Amino acid sequence: MDDLKFGTRDKRGNWTPNEPAGTAPVFVWPPRPLAVLKWLPGYFFPYNILFFLSALAWWNWVIPPVEVMQTLAWGWVLKLFAVNAVAVFLWYFAFELQLYIRRAQGNRFKYNGKFPADAPSDVFWFRSQNLDNVLRGFLSGVPLWTAVQVIVLWAFANGYAPWLSFADHPVYLALLCLVVPVIHEFHFFCIHRLIHTPLLYKWVHSVHHNSINPSPWSSLSMHPVEHLLYFSTIFYHLIIPSNPIIAIYQLHVAGFGAVPGHVGFDKIEVTDETTVDSHAYIHYLHHKYFEVNYGDGLIPIDKWLGTFHDGSKDSDEQMKARFQAKKARANAKKSVGTPAE
Ligand SMILES: [Zn+2]
Ligand SMILES: [Zn+2]
Repeated sequence: MDDLKFGTRDKRGNWTPNEPAGTAPVFVWPPRPLAVLKWLPGYFFPYNILFFLSALAWWNWVIPPVEVMQTLAWGWVLKLFAVNAVAVFLWYFAFELQLYIRRAQGNRFKYNGKFPADAPSDVFWFRSQNLDNVLRGFLSGVPLWTAVQVIVLWAFANGYAPWLSFADHPVYLALLCLVVPVIHEFHFFCIHRLIHTPLLYKWVHSVHHNSINPSPWSSLSMHPVEHLLYFSTIFYHLIIPSNPIIAIYQLHVAGFGAVPGHVGFDKIEVTDETTVDSHAYIHYLHHKYFEVNYGDGLIPIDKWLGTFHDGSKDSDEQMKARFQAKKARANAKKSVGTPAE
């Protein structure tokens, strides 16, 4: 497909979409019902529906009976870990294989014209972004993902969390399913903004930002503290009345949903004529500029706080003005703190 119908490519091969990145038309005033109707199918398809179906599959085929989960035992915990690891491998590798190993669509729709494998760097283990990212994902990402999952399932099984059944509360639980991505967005924004504070950035979040040109495996390339904070989104379901299937769905939105956001391509070509949007542009800009787009735009918190970047020149100017104002404030503080000679 001709990506130049949808964007422009600069001399370095970086592709920029014509349409600036937009936030979802919900949480806006005045309400925009027509825009919501147009936006809604993309809210469900393909990603959130897939993650919900995967949660159902886990519940039916992977998660043991409640009596088993009442006791913590290596048997069911290791089985869950193994299934999570295989699923992460398959889902992440599917994108990696198609877009970064086979390079099936070359750099069509690719924001950054370069491929990480072509640019070894000292910031990564073994100088390889891929190897570094994969190892971090499997050494701490999947284990901590499984750990929070086990804690929550054990709590449900022992009656420590309010467990509603779909038979008794179909409407409430359907609405809760609808807001799972909203909970994710709120939680992600909060923990992400937190780890962008100077000390936590230096010790924790800089690991994730080593991947300035992210690829699928960058999604779970985090410091273990960030993994824990990121996956703790599942704990909301120990507080609000919920159901373990929805708790697993919440975790899948975080764990599997991170991939489209780091895929590095704006559209994924399925056939010559069909593409699927990745919705990756907002988070790609975060990896490029660091101090913009702490959220993914489902709730426009960045817009409210003035940290939104839509990829346009206007946004660039606003970002530069914000950095300069910040620098001026820091310098003013420094000069106040310096004793007069
Ligand atoms: Zn990221
Ligand atoms: Zn960040």
